Amino acid sequence: MIAAPGSADSGWAGRFVPRGAIAPAGSFPTLGAQLGPFMEWQAGCWPRLAQARVGLAQVCSRDLSLGDRVVRAQFNPGRAVSTTAEVDAASIQQRPCFLCPTNLPPEEKGLAYGRHWVVLANPAPILPDHFVLAHREHRPQRVRDAISTLLAFAGDTRGHTACIYNGPACGASAPDHLHLQAVQAGLLPEELAAWRVVDGEPADLLVDRPRLRAWLVPGPGPVLLGFCGQARPVERALTAAVDALGMVQGEPDEPRLNLLASGRDGQVLALLFPRDAHRPACYRAPEPERRIISPGAIDMAGLLVTVRQRDFDALSPSLVRDIYRETSLATERLALVRDLLERRLAYA
Ligand SMILES: [Zn+2]
Repeated sequence: MIAAPGSADSGWAGRFVPRGAIAPAGSFPTLGAQLGPFMEWQAGCWPRLAQARVGLAQVCSRDLSLGDRVVRAQFNPGRAVSTTAEVDAASIQQRPCFLCPTNLPPEEKGLAYGRHWVVLANPAPILPDHFVLAHREHRPQRVRDAISTLLAFAGDTRGHTACIYNGPACGASAPDHLHLQAVQAGLLPEELAAWRVVDGEPADLLVDRPRLRAWLVPGPGPVLLGFCGQARPVERALTAAVDALGMVQGEPDEPRLNLLASGRDGQVLALLFPRDAHRPACYRAPEPERRIISPGAIDMAGLLVTVRQRDFDALSPSLVRDIYRETSLATERLALVRDLLERRLAYA
């Protein structure tokens, strides 16, 4: 059958990893176990990716303390194009969509995930094994179309990956094409800190039940709401938090946010970073004060990416605090979200 335009299969025929390329015929490795071999195979036949991985092995990083929280700064010149991408509607309309199959380089192949999604290797990685999970249709980035897949992928990869969502106004470089990303689990400071809360480290808890724990982390540093437990209660609570944030921001369809999800021992962890500005004031400052920093989910999770040596060198705890204060939801609005969410979760 020929797929109609816009259907789940349009354009993707012939764009998948050849059968047997990453696992011997007759074997059925788990999704998490396929991702590493897929990345190796793809790097072996796509020189741009191989080169990017060599570059990534040379990036510098250093840790900064914000009270009891740690932010890791990374100097990664390979991210320059993504970090400075214009994502206004006119700029997006003028460029070919780099997640649609017709525009992928011939070497780039995907790994099917369910009927609607394709896992691709990110040719501008921030961390080793950095994937993009693209919807098979060209349709807008929309949080309500992403949440269930975000949580499912985190659960299905069982501790191998942290899956992330960047809102169209909060770091997504393809706001016109629904997509998620996934990176190796256990490398992002706020992901690690959240698992410590799950393991019993004290936190500002909103809910503490056997099937769901929810908590809030205010500044200094990125503001976040954490949820952990069984998949269904976590999805309901995360959706309730998106609704509450949408009401407070006056943007019910697509509140400004980033999301991260990870899985472990049958539990799902989800972090919601409620946002204010997409880019901090220092991004627009005149040189030499300008700092090219454009936070998305990975930055909000505590890995702050810089693309110029001088910006990396200039990062201090006070500048980092300012960056997170300007890009996270303000304290008064956070209190409103908390009130709304606590009421919703009380009856959940
Ligand atoms: Zn597209």
